[in-house]
Amino acid sequence: MEIIASVMTCPDEPLETVTLELSDPRPDEVLVRLAATGICASDAHTHTGRIPSPAPCVLGHEGAGVVERIGANVTHVAVGDHVALSWMPSCGVCRHCVSGRPVLCSAAAPALLAGTLLDGTVRLHRGTEPVSHYSFLSTFATHTVVPGSSAVPIGRHVPLAVASLVGCGILTGYGAVVNKARVTPGSSIVVFGAGGVGLSAVMAARVSGAGQIIVVDPVAAKLEEAVAFGATDGLVPSDDLVERLRDLSGGGVDYAIDAAGGEGILGQAFGATIPGGTIVCVGMPDVAARPSLPGPELVRDEKIITGSLYGSSRPSIDIPSILRQYTAGTLPLDRMITKAYELDQIDRAFADMREGRLKRGVVVFDEHLAGLAGPAVTLAA
Ligand SMILES: [Zn+2]
Ligand SMILES: [Zn+2]
Repeated sequence: MEIIASVMTCPDEPLETVTLELSDPRPDEVLVRLAATGICASDAHTHTGRIPSPAPCVLGHEGAGVVERIGANVTHVAVGDHVALSWMPSCGVCRHCVSGRPVLCSAAAPALLAGTLLDGTVRLHRGTEPVSHYSFLSTFATHTVVPGSSAVPIGRHVPLAVASLVGCGILTGYGAVVNKARVTPGSSIVVFGAGGVGLSAVMAARVSGAGQIIVVDPVAAKLEEAVAFGATDGLVPSDDLVERLRDLSGGGVDYAIDAAGGEGILGQAFGATIPGGTIVCVGMPDVAARPSLPGPELVRDEKIITGSLYGSSRPSIDIPSILRQYTAGTLPLDRMITKAYELDQIDRAFADMREGRLKRGVVVFDEHLAGLAGPAVTLAA
């Protein structure tokens, strides 16, 4: 079938909105008509070349929509179901999938990097030229074919613009706090970075009952936003940041989340955490980054330093769980959406993101299902 998609021909060139050919779903795959897609920092980083990815490709990996066709082997969704999309499908049989860590699926990771679906082939073509997928989803398009396990069924009452965001940024930040750090009531936590992932970590810390939630970000306006999402304190980085964090938390925080990935943040997180505390690295550092830590303290202080990919989640369980908390009013996910864009305005959204003007931008394909009034409407300051 023909679809309209935003194509990245090569990094740093403007995206092109064109007609592409999308092949039918194979037996384990699902065709989804997108209602909305979020625009994530990883899309922008791939567009600049900071995250290497095959090109030409269709970016976008935060999507939600309606199932239009299913392959012969797909049983967990039916035509007409509403789905949020997970950019890490799972094979269900490798040691990681079997042990309950599907985001580490050893079948999915190589295909993700290769820009294909799980069987190593693509469904997207421009004329006769193959076009790569991005993170299995390629949601900057009216339709997409995804691995069956990437299509997570959700309730029909959930606005699909909100559901789209849960597919990456929200799940990443929420899961780092709930699944990996396992933040406990009354504890203290510092979150580095107040972008979409950082704000999701703040919301998760709040619902986990953390008593003190400190956010560090160089942009003062983002700290105000973080407070609106439940942070108790906001700090702009300074040379004496570690000291200030220790003072503010009465000797050190129990948990630190690095949602930024910038140089030096791991060292600051390590310094600000109490002995026995937990540091979770979420923001993707530069490929050349080689962070260093003080050796003796590494032994003596028994701190736990761990990465967290995609919220260390089980997407088919965690995405519906997060959306139930949204419906119940405990996670104000809709307040993450700053602005809606047309499909051919994604370059502008990248620029707005770089300039710190967005919590999350979304492209709306179906205003009714997305739950948003219309494109280019500012929904929140
Ligand atoms: Zn993302
Ligand atoms: Zn697997």
